[in-house]
Amino acid sequence: MMPELPEIEHYRRQLGQWILDLPIQRVKLNHAHSTDVEPEEFAAALEARSLLFLERRGTFLIFHLDNGHRLLIALAKDGALYCGEQDEQPPFVSQAEIGFGERTLYIAGKGSVLRLMTVRGLDEVLKTLGPDPFSRQATPEYFVSQLKKRRGALRSILTGQKLVAGIGPRYADEIAFAAGLLPSVKTQELNGESAARLYEALEEVLKAAIDGGGCITVPLNADDAVTGGYLSQCRVFEREGQPCTEDGAPVQKMDVAGKKAYYCPQCQHEQTPVFS
Ligand SMILES: [Zn+2]
Repeated sequence: MMPELPEIEHYRRQLGQWILDLPIQRVKLNHAHSTDVEPEEFAAALEARSLLFLERRGTFLIFHLDNGHRLLIALAKDGALYCGEQDEQPPFVSQAEIGFGERTLYIAGKGSVLRLMTVRGLDEVLKTLGPDPFSRQATPEYFVSQLKKRRGALRSILTGQKLVAGIGPRYADEIAFAAGLLPSVKTQELNGESAARLYEALEEVLKAAIDGGGCITVPLNADDAVTGGYLSQCRVFEREGQPCTEDGAPVQKMDVAGKKAYYCPQCQHEQTPVFS
């Protein structure tokens, strides 16, 4: 599956307990195309450094190195992480490995990218993204005013990374379901109640998914029973033909701007239903 914000935030929180403030002892790139410099140069730049802080923006995981530089990790569609102790091996073919004391971080996914960057270089990349949904900029007022300015279907706007960063197909569908809105509705046409409900649904769904461990089913280490726990809580994404958890109506699939979207025809409407 495509890692989205909840999967990466779950990783960030978990890794924070294990890999901060420890010298990097081993770096191995199994695929030279994972980064933009020679593998030896990449390894030399990381070895003996340590991580002061782990940041996330949208779906980017950003390691703050103790020399002021950043290591940006962007996981590919089939990307995943594993952080094993000593001889624990990941259940995947790793693209890259970074060893911290007794732990090794393994990175999966053909096309996952690791980039050493300056703060300025990273800013150039991040400025193409909208605000993170949990940042101070992503207020309800910002969200509602931006919805009015954007042309397009709800699914396209949610996954576009400009309104807010980090939402992909899975959570766009889950958020639309939670808000009671069809993925095809034009955001410009949403009334005040619908726009406000959409903002709440976005925050609720992402928070629940982070707390639930996201939807990547690869465990983070041998003892991990949390990662992937939200998969069974998804209501519509890739559940075509299965009964809606609210009313039993079969979940359906529609095309929105050339992309698949899953929805319940009974729960989702042009505006959020108002219950009295
Ligand atoms: Zn339903």
